[in-house]
Amino acid sequence: MTKLLLWSIYMAQHRFSSPLIGDRPAPVKFKPKLVCHSWAELETQTNNCRACGLHEDRIQVVAGRYSHKQAELLIIGEGPGQVEDKEGLAFVGDSGKLLDIMLDSVGLESWYITNVVRCRPPENRTLDSPFNAGSPRNGLSRNPTKTECQSCWGFLQSEIALVKPKAILCLGKVAARTILNTPTKFEKLLRIQHQYFEYPVWATYHPAYLLRQPQLSEHSPKWQVWQTLCQIKLYLEGCRL
Ligand code: URA
Repeated sequence: MTKLLLWSIYMAQHRFSSPLIGDRPAPVKFKPKLVCHSWAELETQTNNCRACGLHEDRIQVVAGRYSHKQAELLIIGEGPGQVEDKEGLAFVGDSGKLLDIMLDSVGLESWYITNVVRCRPPENRTLDSPFNAGSPRNGLSRNPTKTECQSCWGFLQSEIALVKPKAILCLGKVAARTILNTPTKFEKLLRIQHQYFEYPVWATYHPAYLLRQPQLSEHSPKWQVWQTLCQIKLYLEGCRL
């Protein structure tokens, strides 16, 4: 009861749409023309995909990693790194380890993590994307280009339909701008709840960025991510009431 009360006050104060407080018109239902209708089809089609140049350099296609296949929270990163390319699973490198720790720390237990593109965008390639502007990559991978994101879009839509999440979290600007279909400055997308069809969407910093931001003080990037995860946790708890 106390939990319900606290949660309602929180939702009202932050003016979030909630599963209980009907303060927004019902969102349009997500009904994409699916390229894959089952998990098996998704696996086969992604493994055989040669829609963009990324297939030329991949070791393997990188699949989503999950605690539950039909998870409450769908987390979307940008593209696999070197470790993921080797292992074939999303977020198994340093970024993934940090993400796991952060999810654990707020008690988010039902998650599915995937990427906007499923093949690793390698270093030293021609950059045709505004996503890459002003973001030098110290690591070994670059941001995927808009064309590459578009090539993988059908797979991501199929994955959303298969997971059927209750909420979506975008890690970094590529994921946020792709899902929300906006060129808006990434910083302006942070901290607020967005909507993608019936799915509430949050955007936050990518864990690769957090690895370069050690500070934990109030308003630091890590602190902000933690706040967003807490918002999501509260939202998901509300869905279960
Ligand atoms: N960064 C991403 O965006 N995705 C991964 O799978 C790993 C690192």
